[in-house]
Amino acid sequence: MHGRKYSLWPVIVTPYNLPPSLCMRREFLFLSILVPGPEHPKRSLDIFLQPLIYELQMLWEHGVEAYNVSCHQNFMMRAVLMWTISDFPAYGMLSGWSTNGRFACPYCQDVTNAFQLRNGRKSCWFDCHRRFLPSRHPYRRSRTLFTKNKKVFDAPPPEIDGSAILDQLRDFGAEMTAYCGGNGHEPVSGAGEVHNWHKKSIFWDLPYWIDHLLRHNLDVMHVEKNFFENIMNTVLNVQGKTKDNMKSRLDLADICSGRENMEVSPDG
Ligand SMILES: [Zn+2]
Repeated sequence: MHGRKYSLWPVIVTPYNLPPSLCMRREFLFLSILVPGPEHPKRSLDIFLQPLIYELQMLWEHGVEAYNVSCHQNFMMRAVLMWTISDFPAYGMLSGWSTNGRFACPYCQDVTNAFQLRNGRKSCWFDCHRRFLPSRHPYRRSRTLFTKNKKVFDAPPPEIDGSAILDQLRDFGAEMTAYCGGNGHEPVSGAGEVHNWHKKSIFWDLPYWIDHLLRHNLDVMHVEKNFFENIMNTVLNVQGKTKDNMKSRLDLADICSGRENMEVSPDG
């Protein structure tokens, strides 16, 4: 919070064939790339990642000679990048799928029921999750617990595998971003309207990236901190930070049933 003018983006690699208690220990966290600030690297992040991707390709295709301390011998060490872990904004930078707007979820993509709040004007994912329940789950039929008067019969969104993602990137013309690099390329056609691809991520240069089931993770600590702060600021009614305001009350009455919501009038 106090280091804004020194902001930079460290990229840290850690070996995952260690017990969980050791993975995050300082001696196993390898600082591989420092992306200098203070300006946000945006799409040029991939340029900074090039040396790391090159070394990961080497580690996959040829390996490097390493020393095994327990058997006192040299061996060819090979390695694979399993996934990335970041906060939600960096998820967009790493994956190439922008995490802003209605299509923010890289899994639901355009098959989302996200909507814009009529008063708050923000994108909202309220009641987008009942479709993941078993088809006969009683919540799916409730007209009062979620969006008022709405039952949900939809199936969850289809799962998208690596080759389907590559097809999307090709069809929307996002592949060109990888040749041009940085922020210089043209915007991807349809971005923000029918999809959220803003580039073809450099991670697709890894030959095995297409076969991964999970490519990018969110760091729970970041997510929970924001969530916790929003709840605490609302419960404690911190002025300027509480989410309980006129607009949210109007939206609540708009979307939800329930007596306490319906009784809210525009003046409080
Ligand atoms: Zn989703």
